[in-house]
Amino acid sequence: KTVGGDLELGPRRWAAISSTAHCIPSSAHIDIALFVETFQPPTPTMPTPMMERYLEVKRQHAGSILLFRMGDFYEVFHEDAELCARVLGLTLTSRDKSSANPIPMAGFPYHQLDNYLQKLIQSGFRAAICDQVENPKMAKGLVKREVTRVVTPGTLTDEELLNPLESNYLACIRPGRQTVGLAWLEVSTGRFVTSDVEPSQLADELARIRPAECLVPETDETAAAPVPTESHGMAITQRPAWCFSPDEARRGLLEHFRTQTLEGFDIDETAPSVTAAGCLLQYVQETQKSALDHIVRLERYCRGTNLILDAAARRSLELVRTMREGTREGSLLSVLDQTVSPMGARLLAEWLSGPLTDIGAINRRLDAVEEFTGDSMLCHDVREQLKQTYDLERLTSRVATLRASPRDVGCLTQTLALLPKLKAMLAGRSSSLLRQLEYDLDLCGEIRSDVEKHLVQEPPLSTTDGGIIRSGACERLDKLRDLARGGKEWIARYQSQQIERTGIPSLKIGFNRVFGYYLEVTAAHRDKIPDDYIRKQTLKNQERFITPELKEHEEKVLRAEEQANMLEQELFQGLRERVTRHVSPLRASAEVLAQTDVLAALAHLATSGGYCRPELTRESLLDIRESRHPVLDRLQPSGDFIPNDIRLGEAAQSRAEKDPPTGRVQIITGPNMSGKSTYIRQAALLTLMAQIGSFVPASEARVGVADRIFARVGASDELSRGQSTFMVEMTETARILNAATARSLVILDEIGRGTSTYDGISLAWAITEFLHDEIRCRTLFATHYHELTELPATLRHAANWNVAVREQDDTITFLHRIVEGAASRSYGIHVAELAGVPPDVIRRAAVILDALEADHVDERGRSHVPPRTTRTARRQQLSLFESGEHPVLSEIRGLDINDMTPLGALQELSRIRDALNS
Ligand code: ADP
Repeated sequence: KTVGGDLELGPRRWAAISSTAHCIPSSAHIDIALFVETFQPPTPTMPTPMMERYLEVKRQHAGSILLFRMGDFYEVFHEDAELCARVLGLTLTSRDKSSANPIPMAGFPYHQLDNYLQKLIQSGFRAAICDQVENPKMAKGLVKREVTRVVTPGTLTDEELLNPLESNYLACIRPGRQTVGLAWLEVSTGRFVTSDVEPSQLADELARIRPAECLVPETDETAAAPVPTESHGMAITQRPAWCFSPDEARRGLLEHFRTQTLEGFDIDETAPSVTAAGCLLQYVQETQKSALDHIVRLERYCRGTNLILDAAARRSLELVRTMREGTREGSLLSVLDQTVSPMGARLLAEWLSGPLTDIGAINRRLDAVEEFTGDSMLCHDVREQLKQTYDLERLTSRVATLRASPRDVGCLTQTLALLPKLKAMLAGRSSSLLRQLEYDLDLCGEIRSDVEKHLVQEPPLSTTDGGIIRSGACERLDKLRDLARGGKEWIARYQSQQIERTGIPSLKIGFNRVFGYYLEVTAAHRDKIPDDYIRKQTLKNQERFITPELKEHEEKVLRAEEQANMLEQELFQGLRERVTRHVSPLRASAEVLAQTDVLAALAHLATSGGYCRPELTRESLLDIRESRHPVLDRLQPSGDFIPNDIRLGEAAQSRAEKDPPTGRVQIITGPNMSGKSTYIRQAALLTLMAQIGSFVPASEARVGVADRIFARVGASDELSRGQSTFMVEMTETARILNAATARSLVILDEIGRGTSTYDGISLAWAITEFLHDEIRCRTLFATHYHELTELPATLRHAANWNVAVREQDDTITFLHRIVEGAASRSYGIHVAELAGVPPDVIRRAAVILDALEADHVDERGRSHVPPRTTRTARRQQLSLFESGEHPVLSEIRGLDINDMTPLGALQELSRIRDALNS
């Protein structure tokens, strides 16, 4: 009947029905085989009511791929079908084959939805899911279908579609010339944040948040400020301009939070970010089509409290993924991440994206880490406990959006059951942060006992198949279950009665999904069959019958089972709604679990890696002894990494008695592959680690808090990105020179390599001078331009460092040890020789090098660079290496040839040649 009512089945569906007939519940009472034989699939020529509905829904969701539920399949039509065939590898078929305009269609079984959704979202599409919203069995005529949610990259909530280790943010930008309003939300956890930033800061903020999707106003010629239309790995969704109306946005937020004002959240209602937040919320309401009770708070993010890293620095320092492969493995995060729960992993990534600048706050974290390192038993026990927790943060959100399965609710309660022990472990600690966490940890006892009382020990995934509610929890349910079970006893009794009645000892009652209960008699007893038995099926050696009593009972049993299932669904929904009322304490506890996990993980890392606690200071210095690169130190076999001291800053500021820092600007020279980049990145990474509250791989560390870290790596490293590399290099350098402050840390790796040598040296020279004189920030500059080692002669706070090299018997070994002083020479030619470049070429290169070097050094072998005038002094355009006459020339000019003997002339010639060669 159901199938007939929905006469929308193509030939494929008919074939599917006949092959899966055994899955149709017996209560359907349809002899499927017969049905399929009797009826032929209809061949409609007009758009059917079903197709009309499809087109109507598609019009409402024009920007999305519409997945239209039909029976056990999701179908796509028209251009969606062609697209899905390509993207998802589905077979393209067509509907109405016989008509003049067959409709392209493709589909997949409903239980593969997650799988296909993942592919669609990863390929950058959005999908609207149109489900049957009434039970097909109850439907009169066409089954009602509605879009139940729209899935977009930024609004994912399904466990299968989300990476447990990464946050998945949806952002919204309200552009403006003075201030840009920014809001971001993680739908899967309910974290909702706003911030107002200057237009120039927007890119940094987006690099920090890394949203999966970003909402922007529809491009409009008259728009006050341009909006981004594409960005790395971020889907851009345009929203109509009216969505950005401040009044509308504010109203939406107040309605959602059920408050009169947003001031309680410490939010200025007139800020552009409030408009962004309102617009974002509206979008989420549109796409989720479910309760959003887990979004309980709007946070305000203040930029001043965090260390700023732009996209280039994040990339160069390989914070969360490597530059070359783009993988998490090999990044700083992969080394730091010793967390044992996904909540902890996500929080650590967040800490790493926004290190702190407030020394008090950093020390609070460090105190907690130290307390854990000082008590390894405690650290171990806490981690063991946390390992058993489930993702309480995302589970809570799934409950609140009414998407949680019984198993989800079970996992949630199992996690709650661990909290008392954890609270006890955190009790009585001395660090203020651990005490705060203990205080904040809400045991959620009420909800836990409610769930434990109702839910079975191991709840199923499905809400519809029963087995969710404990026996004893609901009297009515127990009665229905008894009936279902008692029915089976009745069957056994009925069987023995019938054996007695017929005298057929082998008579038995069986059950299959097509006929339901039946009596089975072997052929040998055919003559003993009573008249009231109704023959149903004849097999080779048996015959199967039904009786009115048997059918009547079957009805009762099956109905009881069905009613019990429905009741269980109701009870479960009630339970889920009750859990929803506790979203705030659940989220608070999830936050505590995440923080505890991160702190214990940092302690574990510190202990296992032999790290030390850094001392944070406001002075502009970096004094780290025996420091190691956190990633290489882990990747290389233990002991292979050679530790180095980093002593950056003005000597006067340092308390170090032994080897005080030598300068604020360090020029690090040395051959390629000797360890220059490693060293300078190490300095930046250790600063970053210290500012998130982590111990650092060193024996001692004093770290001056940085407000920003800039990192610029050499052009050659980025060739693979296929951009005009020199332009990129200079754009990034310009940003550094314009934005760095005296409290910043700048690391530069091979600036100026993307252009001609003299161009490159000149720029590198001028940039270093500017950083030294005007910005006065800590700078580490790794370069193979030997000429730059002249800079400390004129720059008071600059110093030369180089990578020690051992030369022995024509072999050179890089010691990876950074020592004071300039590298003695460029080893390029030497390395070429070792690599087997022919001797002729090597000799010729040496001659050319001599000639080139002689061209721009003075009598003492120094580059001939005139001194720089400061910014405040009147600026003069200086031409670099503007050389006077070569000293040898003036010597020759000064010779009195007339007064020379031929031997004397030869001797003079020899002397001059030696002078040139020296
Ligand atoms: P450069 O910048 O001078 O060209 P890198 O910093 O890229 O050199 O280092 C080259 C390689 O040397 C690295 O990949 C690393 O394996 C190794 N290396 C660098 N520093 C050290 C160190 N301190 N101890 C051991 N190996 C190191």
